[in-house]
Amino acid sequence: MASLSVELSTPTSGKYTQPTGLFINNEFVKAVDGKTFETINPATEEVITSVHEATEKDVDIAVAAARKAFEGPWSQVTPQERGKLLVNLANLAEKNIELLASVEALDNGKSVVMAKGDLGAVIGCLRYYGGWADKIEGKVIDTNPGTFSYTRQEPVGVCAQIIPWNFPLLMLAWKIGPALATGNTIVLKTAEQTPLSGLVFATLFKEAGFPPGVVNIISGIGRIAGAAMSAHMDVDKIAFTGSTVVGRQIMKAAASSNLKKVTLELGGKSPNIVFNDADIENAISWVNFGIFYNHGQCCCAGSRIFVQAGIYDEFVQRFKARAAANKVGDPFAPDTFQGPQVSQVQYDRIMGYIQEGKKAGATIETGGERHGDKGYFIQPTIFSNVTEDMTIVQEEIFGPVCSISKFETEEEVLKSANNSNYGLAAAVHTKNLNTAIRVSNALRAGTVWVNQYNMLHHQLPFGGYKESGIGRELGEAALSNYTQTKTVSIRLGDALFG
Ligand code: ADP
Repeated sequence: MASLSVELSTPTSGKYTQPTGLFINNEFVKAVDGKTFETINPATEEVITSVHEATEKDVDIAVAAARKAFEGPWSQVTPQERGKLLVNLANLAEKNIELLASVEALDNGKSVVMAKGDLGAVIGCLRYYGGWADKIEGKVIDTNPGTFSYTRQEPVGVCAQIIPWNFPLLMLAWKIGPALATGNTIVLKTAEQTPLSGLVFATLFKEAGFPPGVVNIISGIGRIAGAAMSAHMDVDKIAFTGSTVVGRQIMKAAASSNLKKVTLELGGKSPNIVFNDADIENAISWVNFGIFYNHGQCCCAGSRIFVQAGIYDEFVQRFKARAAANKVGDPFAPDTFQGPQVSQVQYDRIMGYIQEGKKAGATIETGGERHGDKGYFIQPTIFSNVTEDMTIVQEEIFGPVCSISKFETEEEVLKSANNSNYGLAAAVHTKNLNTAIRVSNALRAGTVWVNQYNMLHHQLPFGGYKESGIGRELGEAALSNYTQTKTVSIRLGDALFG
């Protein structure tokens, strides 16, 4: 494939030009080795197109571009101007929302309505970090009368960012927003399952006014391009969202190369707890949304559901009717709630877990099978009669599959809920404020929702306890991932000490 773009179309955007090159120095370029890879439409299992594939050599070129921009023009751009560029980018994303959401639905399989919701969050996130750009402040620290000392929050430098396929554009925004606000430059790799939306988004940087090399976006395979980024000697920081297995590899690569700074947003097996006194109708809606939103492909998915004994039987009956009524199907149909899983690999993995749950003796309350005969669709699936040692209760399935179990006391449910190597999110449903706060404080998780689920917001920090990650995304907290503190201490006058 020689060309750098193809003409494609989607049911909601019509025809559009899809860039296929690597976006380096504000231009689309071919991969040095001329390699490409295909991306598949998960709803039809057909090839959409091929894109250029970055290898180690392309990573070197992108990192060199980011280094040159960091040391050159980008260092001269004022904080206020950086903020303006981020806001320009948000405005351009808003102008192109239909196209970006359509491409996301095409390549990822999520419903175009949900994709538009993602885009709303992308735009909000970029504007929010645009607002932070001129509010990055140090401190004056008074140690003694003969010395004047202050700190500066300086950018880390060239940041490598590796994102997953479940929310391609949203993860891009979460990563680039705080990095650009604080004055870093970027080489970002999209996931190999979903390279298309990032390339369309890349066309906006030049128009927004970013100098060449500040943001470079490459398509590539994790174990090749991703590994080259993690081990690169001229990358100052790596930020990753994805599986815990890969997170470990990235941390090892950082440790054995140049000790680049590492932040990781990894997997989860989040508990969703419903007490007897909860508003049962609302709780069912949130529990359903908690696990089946984005086809269960959320790191914070509420996949372990605990319901108190007094309402357990009624809850299970009503929840399974609710789950079975979720509309599964064509991402471009306006009433679709659940599209296909992203790939054959993910489909097979999830079906493997379902088989394993059946074999271990858990009961399928609803689902458990393929949906339709084409595309990677899986029925919303609920397991009951589970025990805590079962693989389906321990491991992250990353699909529309959950377990539901009964509990009697608060003490008992806290023990079960915290019995996980993960600690990304959790939720509590109750009308009692004391229960809500007591349980929220006792849960070992980075985010706890009360009487809701999956309600992320760009102002609120998000990240993991335990093996769910290192560092926080979003909010003011994310800025510290992308700055380092410099202390300057000045001796006043001629006194030697004092
Ligand atoms: P999943 O298992 O859900 O596909 P991964 O953690 O494998 O999630 O992938 C998330 C991102 O990590 C993708 O962009 C992928 O290319 C990248 N990746 C996968 N393996 C590696 C690796 N060894 N080093 C660096 N990045 C990787």
